[in-house]
Amino acid sequence: MRSVKLFLVGAIIAATVVSVCAAPEFSWKAVTTDHYRLLFPAGAGNPDEIVRSVAKIWDQTIDLWVPEGLKGAIPVLDKTSVEGPPEVVEEYLANYRPLLIAIYPDWEALGWDFRPQFGVFGLLANTSSMSNCISRMVHRPKEFLNESDHPGKIWMDWVVGVSGTGDDDWKGALVHELTHYVQLEMALKTIEPPSEAEEPSPENIKISPGLDTTLWVDGTATWAEHALGYSDAQEDLCPAAAAIYLKNGGSLEKVPMLLRYDVGYTLVEALAKLIPPTQISVLLAPIYLPIREVDFNERFSRFTGEMWRDFLRKWEEELSSIEITQGDRVYYEFIRRGYPVRFRFLSPLLTAAQRDEFLGIWDRVTAGHGTPADLDCLEGLFSSLTAEPTDELLEALYPREEGLSHWTYAEYGAQAQADVARLSILRIGQKAEYIREFVRIVNTYFVSKSAPVVLP
Ligand SMILES: [Zn+2]
Repeated sequence: MRSVKLFLVGAIIAATVVSVCAAPEFSWKAVTTDHYRLLFPAGAGNPDEIVRSVAKIWDQTIDLWVPEGLKGAIPVLDKTSVEGPPEVVEEYLANYRPLLIAIYPDWEALGWDFRPQFGVFGLLANTSSMSNCISRMVHRPKEFLNESDHPGKIWMDWVVGVSGTGDDDWKGALVHELTHYVQLEMALKTIEPPSEAEEPSPENIKISPGLDTTLWVDGTATWAEHALGYSDAQEDLCPAAAAIYLKNGGSLEKVPMLLRYDVGYTLVEALAKLIPPTQISVLLAPIYLPIREVDFNERFSRFTGEMWRDFLRKWEEELSSIEITQGDRVYYEFIRRGYPVRFRFLSPLLTAAQRDEFLGIWDRVTAGHGTPADLDCLEGLFSSLTAEPTDELLEALYPREEGLSHWTYAEYGAQAQADVARLSILRIGQKAEYIREFVRIVNTYFVSKSAPVVLP
């Protein structure tokens, strides 16, 4: 599979609120290194190769983003934040690693454990809301991941989850999510907390002219996938998609989730021509930890020697000079219409042959060879989906509801979320209507509102 990780490898930094459910069954193999605890499915691939690859990706990601002087400082455990009975704290400190890296067998299994983010290939999740999980974390990692809603707060932790041990897809996703994690850690190490006189404010960073800061967050992560050689997506497609987005009047103040990766990538690519990645991560740190007032324009000039406004103008000029091919337009539409996400939400309704057909088109489109006929075929496929509301099907769709609610709210707001909430009522009494409505919601709300491109 090509390029699957381009989509929705989320900039997801969220407290996990996952409940125990009948998730796909598999057992974990756990390996602890100096910096992280690694989990992967027992029996998956070559264990030594997985452990080596993760270690290599960890080192590469640190080297890419972290300046020399800070290398030993990430990650670091703040021992003073650990509270509890002495014997528990002792066991905890002996076993603690600030980061848990979990490689799931596939996105479906990942989605079961992190249901609000269902549909992603990877995520970074804050587990600070979890506590009293020590023994579970050490001995029963899967249950640890499923735990939530514990009283009290003992420590802070992070989980990077990626999926797909069957091939190399998880490696790009791991680079992506580790980039989020490392940059967040960088922010914690480089930004001085506000003094008592200063009020922390979530609205502390103004990038003017206005720019969606998630472009930097997912731009750097997507750029790292390419820079370290773990992306098998066609590099040319990112700038082409960004160019089409801008040409169609796309706003930089709020970029649709699905197009954020491509547009953000091109910004970081332009920035990387001015300063090294280790400086990029310091420059952008305030975005990750918005605790004090920052004048981004001044900061940008100080780091790059260029005015932010000039940089942005040159970036737009360069994009507007790109010659757009049919393959580029099809790729843009493929993403704008959210097919990769719609596929994941609706896959239980597809036959094996339909899934293969979809994956074939996906490969073609992300290789830059998609055609308008491919898009017609997909639209026909998804819009006509229907199935008998069997118990098995309902069980497969149910864990997707939380993710559906999360994503539709993020992109379309409360009305869309209310549509999703209605599903839980239909699921009980009107099963056929539930299936119809589920399909309609996915096909409606995973299509970006940004303007479509005209296909010949
Ligand atoms: Zn991301």
